Amino acid sequence: MYQSPYPSIEIPDTPLVPYVFQRAAALADKPALICGASGRQLTYGQLEKAIRQVACGLHAHGIRKGDVVGLVCPNVPDFAVVFYAVTTLGAICSTVNPIATAEEIGAQFADSEAVMLVTIPDLFEKCSAAARLASTVREIVVMGEVDGSTPYATLFTHGDAPPHVDINPAVDVCVLPYSSGTSGIPKGVMLTHRNLVANLAQCSAVGVGVNEQDVLLGVLPFFHIYGMVVIMGGALVQGATIVSLPRFELEQFLSVIQTRRITYANLVPPIVLALAKHPLVASYDLSSLRMILSGAAPLGAELADACAARLGCMVRQGYGLTETSPVTHFHPLESDVVDGGSVGPAIANTECRLVDPATSDDVAEGERGELWIRGPQVMKGYFNKPEATAACMTDDGWFKTGDVAVIDGRGWYSIVDRVKELIKYKGLQVAPAELEAVLLSNPLIADVAVIPVPDVEAGEVPKAFVVARGELSADQVMAFVAERVSPYKKVRQVEFVEAIPKSPSGKILRRLLVDRERAKQQSN
Ligand code: AMP
Repeated sequence: MYQSPYPSIEIPDTPLVPYVFQRAAALADKPALICGASGRQLTYGQLEKAIRQVACGLHAHGIRKGDVVGLVCPNVPDFAVVFYAVTTLGAICSTVNPIATAEEIGAQFADSEAVMLVTIPDLFEKCSAAARLASTVREIVVMGEVDGSTPYATLFTHGDAPPHVDINPAVDVCVLPYSSGTSGIPKGVMLTHRNLVANLAQCSAVGVGVNEQDVLLGVLPFFHIYGMVVIMGGALVQGATIVSLPRFELEQFLSVIQTRRITYANLVPPIVLALAKHPLVASYDLSSLRMILSGAAPLGAELADACAARLGCMVRQGYGLTETSPVTHFHPLESDVVDGGSVGPAIANTECRLVDPATSDDVAEGERGELWIRGPQVMKGYFNKPEATAACMTDDGWFKTGDVAVIDGRGWYSIVDRVKELIKYKGLQVAPAELEAVLLSNPLIADVAVIPVPDVEAGEVPKAFVVARGELSADQVMAFVAERVSPYKKVRQVEFVEAIPKSPSGKILRRLLVDRERAKQQSN
């Protein structure tokens, strides 16, 4: 077992909102959130007041402690208002990718038993269709006005003193993002107030380096744990300003860095790649950027160095998962990053083991093993899925990440492989089991297995091995999936095979396919 090299810290025993807004009163006139697209701005004072007002409005509309409220919204300043208003009441915010299909959104909110959805006018139709699949949803609030919905503005008309709610930070669930974990379809990840407060405190303790003078870029989606906690939480705790962007579009992204004088950017490897290589970058003044923090997928040392050299700023890497709120590893700012491809040491209060997944024994020093993590940021469990929780958590609190890592002599970890099924497309999760279920609904497909294959731009893309029952082309297979899933989940390669390799119990032997694919790539 490996301890974090950092001294342990005391985790504040407080709900999320008072922790995040601890400096808000002192910074009342300072911009907290600015929309990089529309210019809409909320100061810390306005943000805090709006959160209290919306909490009153949600309460007037029947939202109580423990209720799940679904937030289907791109990155706009009011995302933060709704998110923190819901959690103020001890209710649970469940976020989803706004480009998800109605079926995907409906499935998540049926599973999470959401009672209300909050969205934007453009997504109202889709949310209505989703709500028809999720029978617990009784109301849809829209940030604007659309027939058949509750206008967001009406939530502001119930005063600004929300009722006091007793929140037990260690027990009460605060957010419910979805992750497929080590296998199967996406599951609700129960993160308590303490999980999130702990991770914010742990990140501050290792010095992720955000300070009050920073202007952070909020281009990574707030619905995903990285944007939600590291950007939307971490920046506000420090009293920094977030400039949010509803989507990634290279020219707008570069122009916002230039005009807003962004100092700190949380990114994913495909965006780091664009910064390192794209010719457009040369036309912008990005000299305000002092720090890029990449996470959510592996960033290679070469790419990190190329980006740092081109922009003249620090490029650091962090690692974590939705199930760990998310951060567990991070490059210390002060030290020389010898290998930019590693993810650094474990952050404060975080213990690690490297384990042989077959035996659950610790591997010998220097060998690769599945990374197990124990710490205050580890989730409470999957919502309503005790078997899935038991499969990835031990009785003594270890969480099995499904990632394979090695540790070097300095105590820095490198993520070298994955034993879980997950595909990461541009840092976003794609669950093979979900795509396999879609493919099997095609009568011309007898059997199927989906695995990740490497892709220079996206990191990984889904490849389907298909046993066909009749005349079927690869294009038809890809089109069939594309019509039924979010664009980022599309199957991008197809190979027809005679049979899918399976274990005697019928489990797909994905590893065999992954290894076969790797061997093929190496021989090319
Ligand atoms: P998510 O729950 O969407 O944040 O996905 C978590 C998974 O993303 C991890 O289990 C890893 O497989 C992958 N991941 C996140 N950060 C990194 C990183 N820095 N290097 C390699 N893989 C990463």
